[in-house]
Amino acid sequence: MADFSHDFDDLLDANRAFAEDFDLGGFDGRANAGIGLITCMDSRIDPLRMLGLEHGDAKIFRNPGARVTPQALEALVLGVHLLNVQRILVVPHTRCAMASASEAELRAKVGESAGTDASWASFGVVTDQLDQLRQDVAKVRTHPLIGERAKVAGFLYDVDSGLLTRHV
Ligand SMILES: [Zn+2]
Repeated sequence: MADFSHDFDDLLDANRAFAEDFDLGGFDGRANAGIGLITCMDSRIDPLRMLGLEHGDAKIFRNPGARVTPQALEALVLGVHLLNVQRILVVPHTRCAMASASEAELRAKVGESAGTDASWASFGVVTDQLDQLRQDVAKVRTHPLIGERAKVAGFLYDVDSGLLTRHV
């Protein structure tokens, strides 16, 4: 057996406690509530709880900025056709780092942290969040394998009030 360091022991301990009274087995992995969600990786977002959903209810795809990337579209196509997704929410949020710095600023910050050149890196910064949201929702609505098969909407999540506002 590989000789791993102990860097993750706290999490493995927590996992063993989690598995002790595990009652989520035998589930087929479909979206029980028919929900697909694209949102940001931000730690202030609790995706299931903010929508009143429970374990098993939604297929969730997260990335910096809640962007509808080619990978997000792949996930949604699978969700719609194989995993019971019927309604799709695209949910960026207020005070998102991806919408409050420029690409150059992020490169500079990452380069400084890494102690090496990061000028080649790309972070997909968003300059106009609501315009980007409209474009991203349109990408889902016009996708040839999604189109009319699911209802699609765009919202902004306020990380200070917990409220969602629909914009698209
Ligand atoms: Zn964010």
